[in-house]
Amino acid sequence: MRTIADYHVHSTYSRRNHGKSTIEEIVQRAVEIGLEEIAVTDHGPSHYFYGIKMEKIKEAKEKIIQMRKKYPQIKILMGVEANILDYKGNTDISDEVLKYCDIILCGYHIGTVFSSLDDAWKFTIMNKIGRKSKKVFEDIREKNTEAVINAMNKYKINILTHPGDKIPLNTELIAKTAEKTGTILEINNSHSHLNAEEIKIASKYDVKFVINSDAHIKDNIGRYENGLKEAMDAKLDLSRIINLR
Ligand SMILES: [Zn+2]
Ligand SMILES: [Zn+2]
Repeated sequence: MRTIADYHVHSTYSRRNHGKSTIEEIVQRAVEIGLEEIAVTDHGPSHYFYGIKMEKIKEAKEKIIQMRKKYPQIKILMGVEANILDYKGNTDISDEVLKYCDIILCGYHIGTVFSSLDDAWKFTIMNKIGRKSKKVFEDIREKNTEAVINAMNKYKINILTHPGDKIPLNTELIAKTAEKTGTILEINNSHSHLNAEEIKIASKYDVKFVINSDAHIKDNIGRYENGLKEAMDAKLDLSRIINLR
């Protein structure tokens, strides 16, 4: 068993030293470990701390085009890991992002500039209170789920990143929507979602999975061991994971 692609890697375009390796270092490493495909997916522009600057998206894409010429042995995709901005399901997948990106990832992140104070309140404070109160937990989990489902219906999201990380989601409803929208569900090697229990629930639907490294430094590119363990614990048919051979 080996991984042939990594669709979730952060470069130095994820600001404040969040991504430690340049696009070229990422590509070199991907070639070195024998990947057939790599996607550079920096945080979307609405992440207050780490998001790629809107005006840098074009520059990053140009860099990727250069790399394609220099390293023709590997397929290189320009992507973004977009942010969910509100409970209506709006994200920072703008026309500018769509113009330059070949692949769209999206997930929920702390530190996003949310659309309104009410959204910020629910995403942060209510989810925090939910950790102590079962009633609030169930309520806010349904709201979170609705936000993600709205985003999946509104945009063409190729991969939903670490579903259930930072905020709880109803995996059943997310997977049902993913089946309809063709969104691939991520098993994230750096975060603990999807976990085995969630994979088991999601696998009842006709969805595909991907194990991504979510590397923020080149040495972690192509790592998939933690994700594979969760998939195996869930007894998932591994042929449903698109980047394993
Ligand atoms: Zn993320
Ligand atoms: Zn990420």
